Amino acid sequence: LTERLQSAMSKLRRKGKVSASDVKEMMREIRLALLEADVNFKVVKDFVKRVSDRAVGVEVLESLTPAQQIVKIVNEELTATLGSDVVALNKAPKIPTIVMMVGLQGAGKTTFTGKLANYLKKNEQARPLMIAGDVYRPAAIDQLKVLGQQLDVPVFDMGTEVSPVTIVEKGLEQARANKNDLVLIDTAGRLHIDDLLMNELKEIKELANPNDILLVVDAMTGQDAVNVAESFNEQLDITGVVVTKLDGDTRGGAALSIRAVTGKPIKFVGSGEKLTDLEIFYPDRMASRILGMGDMLTLIEKAQQDYDEKKAEELAQKMKENSFDFNDFIEQLEQVMNMGPLEDLVKMIPGMSGVPGLDNVKMDPKDIERKKAMVFSMTPAERENPELLNPSRRRRLAAGSGNSVVEVNRMIKQFNEAKKMMHQMSKGNMNIPGMDQMF
Ligand code: GDP
Ligand code: MG
Repeated sequence: LTERLQSAMSKLRRKGKVSASDVKEMMREIRLALLEADVNFKVVKDFVKRVSDRAVGVEVLESLTPAQQIVKIVNEELTATLGSDVVALNKAPKIPTIVMMVGLQGAGKTTFTGKLANYLKKNEQARPLMIAGDVYRPAAIDQLKVLGQQLDVPVFDMGTEVSPVTIVEKGLEQARANKNDLVLIDTAGRLHIDDLLMNELKEIKELANPNDILLVVDAMTGQDAVNVAESFNEQLDITGVVVTKLDGDTRGGAALSIRAVTGKPIKFVGSGEKLTDLEIFYPDRMASRILGMGDMLTLIEKAQQDYDEKKAEELAQKMKENSFDFNDFIEQLEQVMNMGPLEDLVKMIPGMSGVPGLDNVKMDPKDIERKKAMVFSMTPAERENPELLNPSRRRRLAAGSGNSVVEVNRMIKQFNEAKKMMHQMSKGNMNIPGMDQMF
């Protein structure tokens, strides 16, 4: 999706004026791009019509740069199709808030249950109870229990011999007795939708009366995900959608059509297998991601979270003065480590997603530890003034930190690269040569 749209966009961007035939060609590209991305054909038709209607208006106006306006319209309509507003979880007026997960087998329900427990515990100080309602596979209960142990969140289960409805009933009793303010119900899935599954889910719904019924769908199943969403919504009147495995689907087609077809908001997005790989769904950011503008906002937010602002300011100052030293180097390595895989961050920078070689940008925690050991073997004066590191000092550093002189030299070379990079960035030059060798 991204590629086609991007090339259509860049063609337009280069034009000062847009003719009717330009608009037509652009719409053709958009149509194809969306269909290729597995977006539901009705959604595509609707979308293209809305954009065309507005784009023709732009033509008549012929005021400001029309190309930019069309890009803006496409972005706006894409955002609107994705739902415009961020929709939070529903809250119960009286505790506990009950959230029920539904979806096909393997969609990511159990994983999401753990992610959500973790997220709400951390961000809202929730005291969740997770209920293991998938009795068809013993492994499913164990999976939830393991998550519970990792997160220090209680899991209610009654094994595989009791009906899920009873389990939920007893689980809710326990939650009330223990004053849990949040109950997350993990349910069973099937490979395909069938009446048995739906009836069971309906019974659980009736009994638990959940504040949210979240349909968990796998983004990588594309058009199938849309059909699944339609049936679950018909049968259970879901309140929201969770799109998982978006890390494996850059096209974003499923997210786009599910919202349009069901009319139900996407509330969360799963972006990996780890418990922290959960994101709130921002329609506007998803739209710009689909358009290939790069998700700058997410990048900025992520960086902000992990990056102490004051330190950033100090660093910026040093960048200006070109006085970046080994203390900063270590700090920088640690901050980058905390931000998660560098590949993820780099991919979010507009224009960087297709750059070859970026897949190899990996950081090894052990390597960083080794570098730290070397820096810590320096005297405070050496850390602030790298020029002091003459060959004999380097030999002493190597001995002191248990590394070879070659390794020390390599580390110093990397430091110098980093210093150069920081200096260039301070001058607003983001095209950094040798960035892939940095870490
Ligand atoms: P369930 O059958 O619906 O409960 O699905 P699971 O939670 O057991 O997940 C099925 C598989 O998908 C597991 O291997 C998960 O690690 C994986 N998974 C779940 N969510 C994500 C995600 O957002 N990204 C990726 N890459 N994998 C995921
Ligand atoms: Mg499961």
